[in-house]
Amino acid sequence: MPSIRPLPPELINQIAAGEVIERPASVVKELVENSIDAGARRIEVDIEQGGSRLIRVRDDGCGIARDELVLAVASHATSKIGSFDDLERVASMGFRGEALASVSSVARFSLTSRHEGQDAAFRIEVDGGKLQEARPAQHPPGTTIEVRDLFYNVPARRKFLRAERTEFAHIDDLLKSLALARAGVDIRLSHNGRPVRLLKPARDEEAALGRVAEVLGPDFPAQSLRIDHSAAGLRLSGWVGLPTASRSQADQQYFYVNGRMVRDRVVAHAVRQAYADVLFHGRHPVFVLFLELDPTGVDVNVHPAKNEVRFREQRLVHDFLFRTLHEALAQTRAGAGVPMAE
Ligand code: ADP
Ligand code: MG
Repeated sequence: MPSIRPLPPELINQIAAGEVIERPASVVKELVENSIDAGARRIEVDIEQGGSRLIRVRDDGCGIARDELVLAVASHATSKIGSFDDLERVASMGFRGEALASVSSVARFSLTSRHEGQDAAFRIEVDGGKLQEARPAQHPPGTTIEVRDLFYNVPARRKFLRAERTEFAHIDDLLKSLALARAGVDIRLSHNGRPVRLLKPARDEEAALGRVAEVLGPDFPAQSLRIDHSAAGLRLSGWVGLPTASRSQADQQYFYVNGRMVRDRVVAHAVRQAYADVLFHGRHPVFVLFLELDPTGVDVNVHPAKNEVRFREQRLVHDFLFRTLHEALAQTRAGAGVPMAE
């Protein structure tokens, strides 16, 4: 057997990339979440060839100081947490300090940024994990990250990329789910130079519902109920579709925990039960729901991609969700399964 050797840093990052960077949409998720964490009011996403040729994310967030550019692409380096306590109550989308290190190890990567407190912008490039020195650049306050030729140095991964159309659809889906949770952010998406989605910021609830309609379709508002209920330190708000809005696939279900879209068994079970007697077998409800609770009540550090969570008090959360939704749907139940939509 060969002797034990430490892995080279580039290889460590490529292995870590394997956990979170599955396809172009995973890159877009990491970059846009970073823009959100940076307080961006406007995020532009430009895609070429389904993201395999280019993914560019540009924001007007706080930017990165020149002397921190190299740290931004280093692994296990983050500005978001500094202690175990911080991790327990993390409110940002990111905290692992891994995304940029991972992405830049499997693509041709550049980061251009101007920090809000500085009057000049700088750019660094990383080519398959090899870092070039920071150079002056032109950029308004904020950050632009370009990811070209994703997986060019990981042929096994590149081979698994699907058709351009399919990869772009994943990116669009991902942006829609982020857009629902951040209604106040202006989000633009283009593909091969053509604008595809232009989501204007929503300043009030009516505008927020307009954004929901852009994502779920223009019929959804009239076929849904607004929910906002708090109890026992938990708050559930959003919109649940009436039985008439149900679908044959569970493809329009958005559930967020403290602003993070998650898939969770406890949540899925509570929702299914609440709808059980108003939906026919094989039909799936449509919903956009936001659960808020004290960050110490939920562990987000379950999976590297962070779309799973673990609730400290699962039973409490389950029963709160079930009861709130069950009561909201009561009026549809009163009509013996016939929804009372206007
Ligand atoms: P994490 O988000 O877990 O901290 P990342 O690798 O995604 O790790 O990013 C590393 C660091 O780079 C972040 O903590 C942040 O300080 C900085 N950063 C990344 N993207 C941006 C951005 N768009 N605007 C401002 N800072 C950013
Ligand atoms: Mg991040």
